[in-house]
Amino acid sequence: MHTTFSDGVLSPEKLVKKARDAGLSAIAITDHDHVGAIDEASALGQQLGVTVLPGLELSVTLAGKDIHVLAYLFDHTDPTLLDYLAFFRGERLKRAERIVKKLNSINVPLKIDAVLEQAGIGAVGRPHIASALVVEGHVESFHEAFNRFIGVGGPAYETKFQMNPQEAFRLINKAGGLSFLAHPGRYLSEQELLELIKQGLDGIEVVHPSHSEPQREYYRGIVHHYFLLESGGSDFHGGRKNDDYVFGVHTVPLHVVETMRSRLFS
Ligand code: AMP
Ligand code: ZN
Repeated sequence: MHTTFSDGVLSPEKLVKKARDAGLSAIAITDHDHVGAIDEASALGQQLGVTVLPGLELSVTLAGKDIHVLAYLFDHTDPTLLDYLAFFRGERLKRAERIVKKLNSINVPLKIDAVLEQAGIGAVGRPHIASALVVEGHVESFHEAFNRFIGVGGPAYETKFQMNPQEAFRLINKAGGLSFLAHPGRYLSEQELLELIKQGLDGIEVVHPSHSEPQREYYRGIVHHYFLLESGGSDFHGGRKNDDYVFGVHTVPLHVVETMRSRLFS
């Protein structure tokens, strides 16, 4: 799940309370390029009876494709990891400035300050730019912002700084954690998936709102075949159209977490 430390709408406190109200026993916070929510959420989770697992979502490139990697159960105070994350967030800011320049060049007079107001303390991303475009009246909806301007191949699209998958897996493993391919959906070939497994991927996010039942079965099969781990969740961001239908609905049983822990600590 995401918080205000990246492109989520809820603060860590509100998210943990929502999890408690929904009867969840454990959640993972997986902000993009940020671990700032974890301490506060864990402390509150302890009081409320919700285990908060340290998580993170990184972006990597494979064959020109933007792929997301989830990290779980790592040391979120690892200094090398924190250095990388600070660097990635700096690059995100530069990229937001490039996107704003492109928008200005096609007569969309958005200011970077409007974007930063949306981002607040969070790692700035395209969702913040989309929200700023809505607030400033340049588009009618979040989705229109992506479709007309900032989606892949759009006139104001800019790539993000991305490392290669192997580097990300190494970084996560060195911080004591496990790496999972986030919501692979349909956009990877089996060949590409095998390449990631060879490079050190630990598991696959099988359960995700965007995955159909046949897709879940397919990825579960790959997980078993290659002795990988399974993960899953709602990828909750808050504030978007379908978000209240995914929260606490797309879940995995607690033994998935126990299996992750035993892979790390056996
Ligand atoms: P960024 O990491 O800044 O490139 O932003 C990527 C995020 O933007 C994704 O995690 C999605 O939440 C969101 N996103 C990407 N493409 C779309 C789209 N076409 N419509 C709505 N949201 C999108
Ligand atoms: Zn996101």
